[in-house]
Amino acid sequence: MSTIFSKIIAREIPADIVYEDDLVLAFRDIAPQAPVHILIIPKQEIATVNDVSSGDEAAMGRLFTVAAKIASAEGIAKSGYRLIVNCNEDGGQEVFHLHMHILGGRRLGPMLAKR
Ligand code: 5GP
Repeated sequence: MSTIFSKIIAREIPADIVYEDDLVLAFRDIAPQAPVHILIIPKQEIATVNDVSSGDEAAMGRLFTVAAKIASAEGIAKSGYRLIVNCNEDGGQEVFHLHMHILGGRRLGPMLAKR
C-alpha cells in the first residue's frame, strides 16, 4: 500500500528534497526533532525492515552511504549524529515506507527515553 512518501517521490506533494539518486531520495522531516532531521527512503516501496529481502541490499547500503554524504553536507559529520530506523508499533513507526532518520546538530541525549 502506498504512503505519503510515494507521493513525495512522485512530486505529487512538496518536500524539501536534499538528495536524490537512482535508488534513494532524502528530504527534511516535516516535524524536525533536532536542528538537522532528514529522512532517507528507498525509491522502491518497502513497508518495514521486516520486508527487506536480499534483492534490496544495494538500496539498503545506499541509505548508509547517502547518510554519510548528507551528514557531511549538513556539517554534522564531526560533531556526530544518530541514524534511526523504526519498525512497526513498538518501534514507533508511523509511515509504512521504510526510512532512515538522520538526526544531529545538538546533543541528542540517551538513546532511548526512560520509561
Ligand atoms: P516514523 O515514526 O515512521 O519513523 O517517522 C515518520 C516521520 O515522517 C516523522 O518524523 C514525521 O514527522 C515524518 N513525516 C510524516 N509525514 C511527512 C510528510 O508529509 N513530509 C515530511 N517531510 N515528513 C513527514
